Amino acid sequence: MIRQVSDIDAEACDAFRQIVGTAHVLVDDDLRAGYEIDWTGRYSGLCLAVVRPDSADAASGVVSYCNANGIDIVTQGGNTGLVGASVPRSADTNPRPSIVLATSQLKFLGDVDTSAMQVTAGAGVTIAAWRSHARMAGVDTPVDFAARDSATIGGAIATNAGGSRVLRFGTMRQQVVGIEAVLANGQIVGSLSGLPKESVGLHWPSVLAGSEGSLAVVTSARLKLVPFFDYTITALLTIRTLDHAIDILGRLRRDVSSLDAAELVQTAAMELVAAHLDLSPPVEAPSGGCYLMIDCADQTDPSSALLEAISNVSGIADAAVTTDAPRRDHLLQFCDRITEAMSAATTTGKPPFKLDV
Ligand SMILES: Cc1cc2nc3c(=O)[nH]c(=O)nc-3n(C[C@H](O)[C@H](O)[C@H](O)COP(=O)(O)OP(=O)(O)OC[C@H]3O[C@@H](n4cnc5c(N)ncnc54)[C@H](O)[C@@H]3O)c2cc1C
Repeated sequence: MIRQVSDIDAEACDAFRQIVGTAHVLVDDDLRAGYEIDWTGRYSGLCLAVVRPDSADAASGVVSYCNANGIDIVTQGGNTGLVGASVPRSADTNPRPSIVLATSQLKFLGDVDTSAMQVTAGAGVTIAAWRSHARMAGVDTPVDFAARDSATIGGAIATNAGGSRVLRFGTMRQQVVGIEAVLANGQIVGSLSGLPKESVGLHWPSVLAGSEGSLAVVTSARLKLVPFFDYTITALLTIRTLDHAIDILGRLRRDVSSLDAAELVQTAAMELVAAHLDLSPPVEAPSGGCYLMIDCADQTDPSSALLEAISNVSGIADAAVTTDAPRRDHLLQFCDRITEAMSAATTTGKPPFKLDV
């Protein structure tokens, strides 16, 4: 006898309720809606339920059930991924039933180990919560980007996220010293020991970083921490040409050891974000030029090293420089909010860009 899809759905939802509890199986249209469309609003698809496990064991139970019953899983963290991979596919491209496995309940944050400079975090912890937790202990996180309030540890690992500090500390892949994840058959793999040289079996952090949810559901990770720097200086430079920008960045990388972040911004992107914010950029790039946003951070004031370096290079047309925190925030929003401005823009054609260098 052929069963109706709705019977299968109801049976599956009952099974999920047994595993994660009734409150964490969302089936009503209005409760599922936010999980079925991505941050850009361009990608959407329906799921039979949103299921929110709060442990690796519960995630394993959900994944095992789906595996045995032919139900697709879309793992979702903060849903900020921009490319549609965090939401179900539309019914015309995927007729199979699917669930969204949301990681929002995997929000455990362990004690900060300031000797090993590591912390264990659940996959659903946001980048902002990871950073606040580290800063409360007097240290800092090596990865940061504008979607920090929603984007999660699991999502950042799955996408190998970058952000403004890539230049100094690398992408998310370089920060994962241990991982716990659930494979498609429900097996829990990995280790959270935090050993830098883990030589037992597959190195799961390497396998799973950048895997976009295609190989496993990440449930927790052991992550590196970095020193918190007391002094930061931010400079928004206008550069005459892209070639000059590349030369200048090379010089800064060689000569300024406190260089912490660098973002290259096209003039078109700056115009877009300025219009979106209804603000003028404090400095304006000459025609054919571009912008470089630079952060230097250290335990002693890095200002003189940065100022000396930028006064000795050619190609800089103008600069706005500050060490004052509110003024830094003012400058940084011209980078941080470009993605938001692009999303809000109604223009069609090739979008402008900014690049974490
Ligand atoms: C304003 C804005 C600025 C951004 N800036 C940057 C930036 O500077 N640098 C950058 O790299 N990205 C940036 N992004 C993109 C995005 O924030 C990152 O890709 C982020 O890492 C996604 O995390 P998320 O939790 O939102 O993941 P989601 O969007 O929920 O998911 C992204 C992918 O990861 C998978 N996934 C999520 N959680 C897990 C898990 N626990 N286990 C396995 N797979 C999982 C999903 O299935 C999906 O394939 C930006 C986005 C926005 C909206």
